[in-house]
Amino acid sequence: IQSTMQSGNLSLASLVDYSRKSFPEGKVRTWTGSDFRDITFAEIGAQGAQLAHALTAIGIGRGDRVATFMWNNNEHQVVYAAVPAMGAVLHTVNLRVSPEQAVFILNHAEDKVILVDASVAPMLSGYVAEAPGLRHVIVVNGPVDSFTAPDWVTVHSYEDFLAGHPTTYDWPDDIDERDAAVLCYTSGTTGDPKGVVYSHRSIYLHSLTATSTTGLGMSNRDTMLAIVPMFHVMSWGLPYAAMMCGATIIMPDRFLQPEPLLAMMEAGRPSLAAAVPTIWQGVMGQLRTAPQDISHLREVIVGGAAVPHSMIKAFDEFNAPITHAWGMTETSPLGSIARPPAGVDDPDEAFAFRVTQGRFPPLVAGRIVDEEGNELPWDGEASGELEVSGPWITGAYYQPDGNVSAPDKFRDGWLRTGDVATISPHGYMTIVDRTKDIIKTGGEWISSVELENAVMSNPVVLEATVIGVPDAKWDERPFVLAVVAGEEHADIEAHKAFLADLVPRWQIPERWSFVTEIPKTSVGKFDKKAVRSRYAEGGYQ
Ligand code: ADP
Repeated sequence: IQSTMQSGNLSLASLVDYSRKSFPEGKVRTWTGSDFRDITFAEIGAQGAQLAHALTAIGIGRGDRVATFMWNNNEHQVVYAAVPAMGAVLHTVNLRVSPEQAVFILNHAEDKVILVDASVAPMLSGYVAEAPGLRHVIVVNGPVDSFTAPDWVTVHSYEDFLAGHPTTYDWPDDIDERDAAVLCYTSGTTGDPKGVVYSHRSIYLHSLTATSTTGLGMSNRDTMLAIVPMFHVMSWGLPYAAMMCGATIIMPDRFLQPEPLLAMMEAGRPSLAAAVPTIWQGVMGQLRTAPQDISHLREVIVGGAAVPHSMIKAFDEFNAPITHAWGMTETSPLGSIARPPAGVDDPDEAFAFRVTQGRFPPLVAGRIVDEEGNELPWDGEASGELEVSGPWITGAYYQPDGNVSAPDKFRDGWLRTGDVATISPHGYMTIVDRTKDIIKTGGEWISSVELENAVMSNPVVLEATVIGVPDAKWDERPFVLAVVAGEEHADIEAHKAFLADLVPRWQIPERWSFVTEIPKTSVGKFDKKAVRSRYAEGGYQ
């Protein structure tokens, strides 16, 4: 027999109206440096309608790219709502990529119009001459003259651009749920950035999971501090998830240092927060010098890079438990999340599950394979490349003349993640390393992630990253680049002694360097490529 159910259409157009009608009081709060400025979902619906009319008036239609060069703020949320809902494609440009990469991305995406925060408009001015397709620049949160335009570009102020347009819009109901909604580029740690195009359907399903207890568990009762940038994997999907469940969302704008982040926590008392480990490292340091109660955080969601075990312990002491998650630009990003199984109440037992990257949520299939592509067992021992598939996992990379699904990135419909992992019989996945970061020494492998964890479990180590450097005898040996709490702790022998009980002797690194800061990527992760070119390729001194 056939089902009697309607099929529905998982389009973001319906989400704008839904949040406006069902959660009119739900709000987005942007930090101004000393306070919040708020916008409700009802106001976002109205401003979004004006923006859609205004974009239509300058010729933006179905499938056209509308770029943003913006921090996390109220206006960015309006753009998130309006652009896919009108059938155009939102392209979030990373503010921190190199000028060459920014120009590459603007041209590759064929952006015609871009919304830019005034604080970063001078930076964008420097790129526009090389991105001749751009015709309109809309300056947000500041004066239009912060942007210097060549004569083929029309510059608008956001307020003037919207002014006079109706506050309702007849959002199209014929957008196919498989159509493009948002375009994001990977941060291109190797080669040119690669474009990933999310569909209405993929975002809708991902948001449903973000608001379920098998995902992020975000609900109407939550206030989410969305530190992870809206220009990086859609702020992990939080803006859309908030519209779906009516959660309040706090946007830090450009105030991403530990002190302002803690000030906004004091003022906004979020119940959830999301960011990469390096952000929490800074917050942790600040909390130690200026203690503050952050126990209003029922969960701190951390991913994007492995969370050091010592950080999970520290946040437990702050009564703000960390939940570890794994994902990529290619996976929208939620690929796995680490919550201990039911019945595991003993904190030490639970800890062993919390340090893993966790279980795959429903709709994400995961497996580990050997070099020939043979599936490996979920026994917690065998390690191989992690491959994932599902409705919010990309199956190709964007190319204007036809998407490509390169064989080295995809295998039989599975995305090859480039991460090496084990999976336990309970389905808990642990990332051992990135394939390109594993250290091969004397025929054995060292997981740089495990070694980093061991090094950082020393309380005098504030940050550390480990790479393999060439070695005449062993091929490669681990090299540690660390930030320590005071010069007196820059003592290699003391660090080696500390590691003696934690890792096998042959893994203990001989080569260490102490610095005041470790280079970070455009999305705030340790930049191993930069560390490698400085310390490994140039020859370790
Ligand atoms: P980029 O490749 O541009 O850094 P992503 O932000 O998409 O972009 O990075 C995805 C990669 O980040 C993953 O393939 C993995 O190596 C790493 N990663 C993400 N989350 C975790 C985690 N919880 N633990 C370990 N590694 C992680």
